[in-house]
Amino acid sequence: MSQTLVLASHNAHKLEELRRILGPLIPGVELVGYDGPEPVESGISFEENALLKARAAAARTGLPAIADDSGLAVDVLGGCPGIFSARWGGPARSDAANVELLLWQLTDVADEHRAAGFVCAAALALPGVDGEPGGEVCELGVWQGSVLREPAGENGFGYDPIFRPEGEQRSAAELGSGEKDRLSHRTRAFSALAPEILTRLQPGW
Ligand code: IMP
Repeated sequence: MSQTLVLASHNAHKLEELRRILGPLIPGVELVGYDGPEPVESGISFEENALLKARAAAARTGLPAIADDSGLAVDVLGGCPGIFSARWGGPARSDAANVELLLWQLTDVADEHRAAGFVCAAALALPGVDGEPGGEVCELGVWQGSVLREPAGENGFGYDPIFRPEGEQRSAAELGSGEKDRLSHRTRAFSALAPEILTRLQPGW
């Protein structure tokens, strides 16, 4: 009998992506979507925001839940856009506006000082049992690279067109989805979380 794990996100693409990444690592566990309320992301770190989301979904559904929070951290900007990545260019949360503002901010920054990393925090929260609070754990994954001077490539989303992974000549938006899956910050974070999921899930969930 399979166990159920909730992904605390309304994003159908993220569900597909995480099924691809986690499926082989957590056999016998079915990852399902979530359409309940999402909490305000009031944390001040990727880890805090991922845990907030996972905790809320576990409390709401009574099932173990995973969540992630991710973004681009640019060294010369002290780790920004960081947790503000989705709305760096304004409240419209437009990928194009985010990229345009970041490129403008880095106009005078030389190539050797444009290091950046995509960061992902992957959290697991367990529902409480018999009045006892459920456990929780969070793992971080980082994909190192640098910020290009102009966008390249049509794949992916967000900052992919201006992120060149370390050791690559192409932008992340020029990689195929299989290639990105092998390298990405989300893959790194959820691969680290997978053994925790297997250890902590109890029969009956
Ligand atoms: P979320 O936490 O997955 O919602 O990501 C927040 C924001 O970080 C997104 O809106 C993107 O701007 C950026 N981001 C996160 N992961 C990626 C990625 O794999 N490629 C490009 N941008 C990303």
